[in-house]
Amino acid sequence: MIPAAFDYVRVDSVPEAISALTEHGEDAKLIAGGHSLLPLMKLRLATPAVLVDMGRVPDLSYVRDEGDHVAVGALTRHHDVNHDPVLTRHVPLLAYVAGKVGDPQVRHRGTIGGSIAHGDPASDLPAAVLALGGSMVARGPNGDRVIPASEFFQGFLETALAPDEVLTEIRVPKAAAGHAYQKFVRRSQDWAIVGVAVARANGTTGVSLVNMGPVPLRAAAVEAALAQGASAADAAEQAAEGTDPTGDHNASPEFRRHLARVLTRRALQEAGL
Ligand SMILES: Cc1cc2nc3c(=O)[nH]c(=O)nc-3n(C[C@H](O)[C@H](O)[C@H](O)COP(=O)(O)OP(=O)(O)OC[C@H]3O[C@@H](n4cnc5c(N)ncnc54)[C@H](O)[C@@H]3O)c2cc1C
Repeated sequence: MIPAAFDYVRVDSVPEAISALTEHGEDAKLIAGGHSLLPLMKLRLATPAVLVDMGRVPDLSYVRDEGDHVAVGALTRHHDVNHDPVLTRHVPLLAYVAGKVGDPQVRHRGTIGGSIAHGDPASDLPAAVLALGGSMVARGPNGDRVIPASEFFQGFLETALAPDEVLTEIRVPKAAAGHAYQKFVRRSQDWAIVGVAVARANGTTGVSLVNMGPVPLRAAAVEAALAQGASAADAAEQAAEGTDPTGDHNASPEFRRHLARVLTRRALQEAGL
């Protein structure tokens, strides 16, 4: 459980982080809260030659009301997302889900940007941002680009971020017409065996699934059934369509498909459908 040797660079701004990433290329890795990267390094599943520590970059921890959406700085910690009054009022799903990540220690260190950039299909916040139809702001040597959540998660622990890009902001549309997050776990602080996020706004319902494939997934068949007027119970029957869950010591693929249907029905009903 000891990481391979690495060099350590601490940066105080996003431009400095981009320069360090550009200089060291694929050998470098950003570190924010360290709560996903360090466990991988200890298991030697990640062996970056250079760690670029952006954990103390000022100005990247914020929540801002931007009219039709709320902007969240990448270094905002899960605890702060969970307790933020703007998010609680306008995007309650995101605030609620942040409170379901790990335990208090994890929520005080881990950042929303780290969780999204890590791209783990078992993580809670990527699915919430997906259900909300959010987007990510990536900054690189050529400036900013905005990537919709639907295009961001590309494979297991793989995202649309280029090696020299920093995720600076997560944007989520306001959605306060109903929400729910159903997380099936054996112990309350664990990762989801399966999770289902639901967000309602302006007559539309976004539904996404945790741990039902190599990436967080939008439950497109459920959303389509709801749009055609199906009941929550009938729509939830489609929840496993298009998924590819793995089997592990927690659950077989069949059990995960069953959980997806049950949890989707519960989440839709909890969200008022
Ligand atoms: C005991 C334990 C329990 C946990 N339980 C849960 C859980 O129940 N649910 C859950 O969802 N998560 C859980 N986590 C993970 C936790 O939420 C992490 O905090 C989060 O996944 C990563 O955030 P971080 O800031 O720690 O990222 P880091 O570990 O610092 O980084 C993770 C990855 O993202 C990259 N990165 C970080 N920030 C940026 C950025 N701004 N731009 C580009 N790339 C970036 C890094 O290079 C790295 O590849 C748990 C972790 C632990 C240790």
